[in-house]
Amino acid sequence: MLLHDVHAHLDFSEFDEDREEVLKDCEAAGIKAIVVNGVNPSSNRKVLELSRKHPLIKPAFGFYPVHVAEEGLEKVRAELAWIAANKPFALGEVGLDYKEGDGGLRGDAQREAFREFIRLGKRLGVPLIVHSRKAEHDVLDLLEEEQAEKVVMHCFMGKRRLAERARDLGCSFSIPVLVVKLEQLQWLVRHVPLKRLLLETDAPYLSPGGGRNTPVNVRLSVEKIAELLGMTPEEVANQLFMNYQRLFL
Ligand SMILES: [Zn+2]
Repeated sequence: MLLHDVHAHLDFSEFDEDREEVLKDCEAAGIKAIVVNGVNPSSNRKVLELSRKHPLIKPAFGFYPVHVAEEGLEKVRAELAWIAANKPFALGEVGLDYKEGDGGLRGDAQREAFREFIRLGKRLGVPLIVHSRKAEHDVLDLLEEEQAEKVVMHCFMGKRRLAERARDLGCSFSIPVLVVKLEQLQWLVRHVPLKRLLLETDAPYLSPGGGRNTPVNVRLSVEKIAELLGMTPEEVANQLFMNYQRLFL
């Protein structure tokens, strides 16, 4: 069974104690690629360093939208230059987060930063891994305006109408392990073409049973997706791995 995880944060301190062991477990579980997403300048550098040590780790560099609002556009622009010079495998985590409101400079800075990430992604020909919280409308507007080409919606929890719009724009969706229990994600699995589904964990977050999540849990998603679509886990894992290859390689 060929497995992958397009959205994890293995650079986070939650893995400092046992990162090597976690990676060995991933290898033993059949995971062939883990796209580790940076969230700010120090995280991006750590992701790069990890990717140089571990062939399993593919480096995505980004700027978490909440950090964009805190740090300001100048820092984001300096980071975009660093990212462009360091051969990202993908751009993430990027996007918009309106949890604390979309008004004024907070929202403006996030939207401008996201627009620049979309443009960089197109220029480099790499996928964008998009975080969107209470901001799906604006995320989709920007993707459409900029004619983004390779887009992965990470843990998409927007309304069905918005999910359909993202689907119709050609986005792929990475399905988190919460699919084992959340009806909203199960609906996505049934309504997005199979060739645009991917696997993710957001490890260490979004564990279905609480506690720390790790990439090996993508197996739980594979089993659930197989059940939802009437396929075998083997078929699901291999099909979704081909999707990963088609989009990222
Ligand atoms: Zn994340």
